Amino acid sequence: MLIGVPAESRTPLVAATPASVTALRRLGHDVLIAAGAGERAGFTDADYAEAGARVVDDGGAWRTDLVLKVDPPNAAELGRLAPGTRLAAQLAPGRSPALLEELAARDLTALALDAVPRISRAQSLDVLSSMANLAGYRAVVEAASAYGGMLGGQVTAAGKVPPARVFVVGAGVAGLAAIGTAQSLGAQVRAFDVRPEVAEQVASMGATNVSLDIATGSDRSDGYAGELTGAAEAAAAEMYAREAAAADIVITTALIPGRPAPRLIDAETVARMRPGSVVVDLAAANGGNVAGTVAGEQVITDNGVTILGWTDLPARLPRQASTLYATNLVNLIKLLTPDRDGRLVVDETDDVQRGMLVADKGAVTWPPPPIAVS
Ligand code: NAD
Repeated sequence: MLIGVPAESRTPLVAATPASVTALRRLGHDVLIAAGAGERAGFTDADYAEAGARVVDDGGAWRTDLVLKVDPPNAAELGRLAPGTRLAAQLAPGRSPALLEELAARDLTALALDAVPRISRAQSLDVLSSMANLAGYRAVVEAASAYGGMLGGQVTAAGKVPPARVFVVGAGVAGLAAIGTAQSLGAQVRAFDVRPEVAEQVASMGATNVSLDIATGSDRSDGYAGELTGAAEAAAAEMYAREAAAADIVITTALIPGRPAPRLIDAETVARMRPGSVVVDLAAANGGNVAGTVAGEQVITDNGVTILGWTDLPARLPRQASTLYATNLVNLIKLLTPDRDGRLVVDETDDVQRGMLVADKGAVTWPPPPIAVS
């Protein structure tokens, strides 16, 4: 199969790395990569050529059997895809009905890498987990830079410096990465999640798990977070106010699949935080967990709290983000070429493949039928 990797117009990430080219070649595929496509992620054309890719002009990378991308194609890029081409990219299907119509009208088979079902079997393809992990790490790096103090404590001849206090809300993939990073820099870390089962993971990383003295019953049956209601919501609000006021850095990562981000920290709580303290709201792109967050911006409140609403945290680590993304793609291609004969088949009876298929044979195929929970 001929696989094309065009240059991205917006993100510094690239959908293949020299290592992933080697893996794709081993699977029997040929790879055409647009000249300069890996430059902003730190990979040169010579690196790709050495790994066995053919470096071509951008048009050449689009005229292939399968096109690998990071961002969704824009209008001009859509025009470069011939009918029948397969496309794998992040397509945000829930927010992009017009794009899905366009993909179907052009008779493209499109797989959304950001629609991988959240089941363990699909973990090796899950770009959202890969990116969340990097975002959690980078959130701490950004927070440390904006904070302007040390994260680790010190005892020196000139006196004692206490460690910074970091409070992490949401201990999923991003939150656990943030906890691990802040711990490794020596901060004193506390964390809260509505899912009580994460307490053990938080503790195993050396952080303190904050719990409510009331059940945080979830309204979902699939093990993921639901919204807090009634007394649990009131107890949580009190806890957030207490924890945020005592923290130097607050990192929020709370998301509820399929819904806008829950608003957890209100303006009153932010107003009670110390001047110089920093909030990083990783939910900024989904509406934010914190009052005052502006997606993509840094806001400094009247009381001197810096709120970072960066929505491009993985792109601030373009080399590693591309490496994880490209590996997720190799795993996808292995799944779609079960006979190792270069022929790509989407098995619609498989929940993972069906879940990602958003356009096929001239029709929009998203949302997929719900996965039966056994
Ligand atoms: P997520 O990004 O949807 O949410 C982040 C965290 O926010 C979650 O831990 C959630 O419980 C928490 N949260 C939601 N509302 C909250 C609130 N009001 N207060 C505090 N916390 C709140 O979740 P995620 O990071 O993608 O993953 C969550 C879990 O799912 C993890 O255990 C992860 O390992 C698992 N997961 C599995 C797969 C897979 O199997 N393919 C993929 C992704 C995640």
